[in-house]
Amino acid sequence: MSPVRQILNPATEEPIGTVPMAGPEETDAAIARAAVAFPAWRQVAPADRALLLRRFAAAVDAAIDDLAALEVANAGHTIALARWEAGNVRDVLTYYSAAPERHVGQQIPVAGGVDITFHEPLGVVGIIVPWNFPMPIAAWGFAPALAAGNTVVLKPAELTPLTAVRLGELALEAGIPEGVLTVLPGKGTVVGERFVTHPAVRKVVFTGSTAVGKRIMAGCADQVKRVTLELGGKSANVIFADSDLGKAAAAIPDGAFDNAGQDCCARSRVLVERPVLDEVLALLESAMTSVRVGDPRDAATTMGPLISAGQREAVARFVYDGDGRAVADVAFQGSAPSGPGFWFPPTVLTPSAPDSPAFTDEIFGPVVCVVPFDDEADAVRIANDSAYGLSGSIWTRDIGRALRVSRAIDAGNLSVNSHASVRYSTPFGGFKQSGFGRELGPSALDAFSETKNVFLATDA
Ligand code: NAD
Repeated sequence: MSPVRQILNPATEEPIGTVPMAGPEETDAAIARAAVAFPAWRQVAPADRALLLRRFAAAVDAAIDDLAALEVANAGHTIALARWEAGNVRDVLTYYSAAPERHVGQQIPVAGGVDITFHEPLGVVGIIVPWNFPMPIAAWGFAPALAAGNTVVLKPAELTPLTAVRLGELALEAGIPEGVLTVLPGKGTVVGERFVTHPAVRKVVFTGSTAVGKRIMAGCADQVKRVTLELGGKSANVIFADSDLGKAAAAIPDGAFDNAGQDCCARSRVLVERPVLDEVLALLESAMTSVRVGDPRDAATTMGPLISAGQREAVARFVYDGDGRAVADVAFQGSAPSGPGFWFPPTVLTPSAPDSPAFTDEIFGPVVCVVPFDDEADAVRIANDSAYGLSGSIWTRDIGRALRVSRAIDAGNLSVNSHASVRYSTPFGGFKQSGFGRELGPSALDAFSETKNVFLATDA
């Protein structure tokens, strides 16, 4: 009998169900079934694979309300966010349903014959998902992987398996053959590690913490296994004095507190050109009044709870010591419900020391630091003074500066006069210790296929 994990609602701390956790034997059996399903799946004609992915997208579309309600209950996401997430899965599937018929190779001019390239699928792909965006992050892996002709075993995070399990069922209902997409709830140290060590798994896609990502990369080296890593972040939101300060300040809460700050792209370091620091702080304080923390089922709520008691404790340690005394420079805070639920109020810090842990470490909660900078070079220096390089924003009306600073910041996803990070049609991934490889966008299938070169001699 598999051990069973109890799943809690983070807004109420009440149990909402149990999920069997796969052990080593079940993991090996699922990988074996995925390996058996691979030869037939790669042979499915491109137009038929496209049709199956469109049917899967339609099944997700029909289930948006159910999937969103599950995520509200399991992850504490606001209903608006959860509906967006389920819709994102549908859209990612639809986008990559066009890929099987467009995954074209090259014909390269050579002497003595014809040279052509093919994209061959890898085989079984293992996808390891974190708890912060359970649905989209799963789909960013499985949609292009399946489109390229691979079969997939997918491990959701221990805390948030419910929507992934439902997506696996919807795939089957849509006609995706048995063994092509298997969702396997289980522990990272059991199921996730087996994806790394099992020779039939030919690629691991990991999204999660940098610490675990390093371990996975090292483990994959043993078999020269392909790996994509989407890891942590501590992104900079750079506000120049010439920008529309009202717009820039109004975007800070969304950029930092979306999903209660449990967002790898959170713009958790706000850098403000010194002469407008006070003005931006005043605008931010009033923008904070629009952050409504509470019951995630309520359409008016903009921020829910943190995922777990442990996460709340980890976040709180950046702000308070064990006796409730502030250990950081708290400028102001919003409010949060008391009573059951893993609540933490949106918090703005103005750290005076550049090495303050709240300013250097990924907090993964609703805590944002605001610091001044002196000029463009200083802004770039502070923005790049981080082990991470995932996303960020630049606010300015000077188009030359917007481009100069965008090119100078070492991060994979930047927005000018915007705090949006992710679009399924554009590449997503990190510089430095934020990751390795790219997901999404028009080239995503390249990460799920090998290029094969074939030369055909035409000499008589
Ligand atoms: P985590 O690293 O603890 O866990 C992520 C996943 O890895 C979970 O499914 C977990 O079970 C599994 N895992 C844990 N140990 C493992 C091991 N030894 N071998 C294989 N798998 C293992 O991360 P988390 O706490 O779930 O998520 C938060 C982190 O994820 C943050 O650092 C955040 O920045 C990062 N994240 C990054 C992105 C991105 O796209 N760059 C997106 C979301 C989250």
